[in-house]
Amino acid sequence: MIKPDHITTTTCPYCGVGCTLELHVKDDFIFKVTSPFDSPVNHGNLCVKGRFGYDFVYHPKRVLTPMVRRYLLESVQSSVISEQWRSRKDAPDLGYQSLITNYQSQTPWDWIETDWNTALDITANKLIEIYQRDGSDAMAVYCCAKATNEDNYLLQKLYRALFRTNNVDHCTRLCHAGSVVALQQAVGSSAMSNTASQVTMNDVFIVTGSNTTENHPIISLQMKEAVEKHGAKMIVIDPRRIELVDFAEMWLPLKPGTNVPLFTAMAYVIVEENLVNHDFIDDRTEGYPEFLASLEKFTPEYAEQICGVPAEDIRKAARLYAKAKNAAIYWGMGISQLSHGTASAMALIHLAFLTGHIGRDGTGLNPLRGQNNVQGASDMGAMPFHYPGYMRVDDEANAAQWEKTWNIEPGGLSRRLGLTTTEILSHAYEGGIRALYIMGENPMMSEPNLNETRKHMEQLEFLVAQDIFINESAAFADVFLPATPFAEKDGTFSNTDRRVQRVRAAQPPRGQSRPDWQILCDLAQRIEARLGRPTARWDYTHPEQILREMAGVNPDYAGITYERIDKVGLIYPVPDLTHPGTPTLFTQSFPRGRGKFTPLDYVPVREQADDEYPFILTTGRLLEHWHGGTMTRNSALNEAYPEARVEIHPADAEIHGIRNGDPVKVQSRRGEVVLRATVTEKTSVGVVFIPWHFHEAAANLLTNDALDPQAKIPEFKACAVQVFPARENELSNPDVMLSRGRY
Ligand code: SF4
Repeated sequence: MIKPDHITTTTCPYCGVGCTLELHVKDDFIFKVTSPFDSPVNHGNLCVKGRFGYDFVYHPKRVLTPMVRRYLLESVQSSVISEQWRSRKDAPDLGYQSLITNYQSQTPWDWIETDWNTALDITANKLIEIYQRDGSDAMAVYCCAKATNEDNYLLQKLYRALFRTNNVDHCTRLCHAGSVVALQQAVGSSAMSNTASQVTMNDVFIVTGSNTTENHPIISLQMKEAVEKHGAKMIVIDPRRIELVDFAEMWLPLKPGTNVPLFTAMAYVIVEENLVNHDFIDDRTEGYPEFLASLEKFTPEYAEQICGVPAEDIRKAARLYAKAKNAAIYWGMGISQLSHGTASAMALIHLAFLTGHIGRDGTGLNPLRGQNNVQGASDMGAMPFHYPGYMRVDDEANAAQWEKTWNIEPGGLSRRLGLTTTEILSHAYEGGIRALYIMGENPMMSEPNLNETRKHMEQLEFLVAQDIFINESAAFADVFLPATPFAEKDGTFSNTDRRVQRVRAAQPPRGQSRPDWQILCDLAQRIEARLGRPTARWDYTHPEQILREMAGVNPDYAGITYERIDKVGLIYPVPDLTHPGTPTLFTQSFPRGRGKFTPLDYVPVREQADDEYPFILTTGRLLEHWHGGTMTRNSALNEAYPEARVEIHPADAEIHGIRNGDPVKVQSRRGEVVLRATVTEKTSVGVVFIPWHFHEAAANLLTNDALDPQAKIPEFKACAVQVFPARENELSNPDVMLSRGRY
């Protein structure tokens, strides 16, 4: 048995559950991952990603040296080129050498390895050149839901303080923006109101738009425990027959995109049968009379016609939820990733208001956040409308407070709302966004309608990628800055429970790679000096100093120090240094005062099935993979699930002459992919499902870029497609990237 040199306790880099990991290290190599039984999040349990999905750290394609395009290096100094070229001749084959072509004979767009000073000087100079020529509106940045709180705080600070823009966003826009907007409007706070482990306190709970078993595996274990050990009743509302259905009291298989009529019909039943908590409505809410008036048409029979769920099942589900002593709602992106994602989430919020199932342990409104630190990145202000702590950028007092903290002249920060992720790319044209900085995100996999996204990426004048691999988006970059993954840096992640936990380096950075926060400090110091724009601080020597600066203004984090979160973290709000944390929110009131009812109407998804495109495509994740696949497809997990598959119902497969494993072409109005079919009753008749992790059959080539008007989240969960049998030789080559980049 191998004896480790040391065991480092840290936090999982994949999903928002935030499981505690113990990395067993020998000779700077992680050879095993375990988890402590006393972890309050996962009690020693880990899913396959947390247990086995860390070997991407050692993948030969990981980039370990800064790289710039040859044309940029030539414009700086030719001596640097020759020196770098000489030094690289003796370099070991790191796997990405094929990307770096012979300087003597190739094009201006070849990647050339260089040193950090050269790469950061080029980056700073080019960003400043564009900023001074075209102004703040030409600058934009994608922060990163996989990076730490400290990394995200610094990157939004850099763009706000130095380039005076709020064009700052990250992938929260693409997952739970609808939930965030609805919760902000209704209660004034967008995080989960209770912790996931409180599911065992529920008598009844609704799981909707969430394949929890694959997306939040440890939470699904807790849900099953609630049913099997504690006698809770689970209601699954989902178009697919997900694994949780096996444990559910009821399954309501609605048609994709018909959430609003179904949930509002449940509200209708609660009112009609006087299951309403009148005290809660009187004491804690506003807008009830107007909401009541809007319910008139949402009878269960009306909803049945739209969503396909029998009216009697809608009645039964409404009674179950409303009559429970403690009931909660857990939802995922099947609610928010729609062009009416905000209304979808609002319809769920109404159920909690009507029954008073909120503000107590074992109740609540719980959007299950996707990425490991999407909650934290949002908390850190990695969004176009908010500073850290969800302080609106267009509020004078908020702006003044951050100007003081960042040593900026009064009025220096922009008061204008910035562009969202999808808007940033669609504004990539002459006179619009010219320079984009991407830290760890992968829009060439995660945006909808990727053929359009590609055109936008091609329009950028300058793109910086700060990442660990040359992924589908970094292929478009002009500069590549090699960052360290989670196992080589310190900081904090905030999980879906609002629990702020430590991330700890288990080994030194490999090659020349550096932690994101250090890269950003060095870059900011260069930009600040050349712009003559002094700011509060860029000379941090440890990430805790960064967290404490942010916590000095953000009251939710005020009582969080690295010492206090050393063992098990703290659940914010933590308003002072002695506060124990707040697992249950809204016990007395909502942040906005009264909870607000908002009358809703039914708006169909933008694309309905028709004769030409008779199927509805819905997309999602798999247990074995994560997002655009930058980490999992470069790990052993790829062997467990190596290729994209489209799920199709047996009745549809028979009509189209498709057998299990056959190659099929799936085509929408925007693109097409060829992949193998899985014939399964997991999906409904007329609905097909494709996971979006596979660049060789990227589901987002098909999806619709229609946006929710308020949250600006795209409609990933429903678009019309056609399915045809295809030939073996039409299957895409998995070694071919979706995009080879601009050059
Ligand atoms: Fe990591 Fe999520 Fe799996 Fe836990 S459930 S091990 S946080 S991927």
